[in-house]
Amino acid sequence: MIIKDIKLTIKMICPKCKSELKRVEIEDAKTPAISYQCKNCDYYNFEHESIMKIIDEIKQKELH
Ligand SMILES: [Zn+2]
Repeated sequence: MIIKDIKLTIKMICPKCKSELKRVEIEDAKTPAISYQCKNCDYYNFEHESIMKIIDEIKQKELH
């Protein structure tokens, strides 16, 4: 329970310029993905769980 609370309060910080990252939801995909974009530079990062779900969906489409 404590770990969960800490995780929610952590702000995503840009590794390049140390600015706060903006949380962006990408709704084009079947599974909405969460990405983090820097307000200051061109850095962006995908939330790990979101991108893994999309990769799984793409793999399943390729199999059928
Ligand atoms: Zn940055």
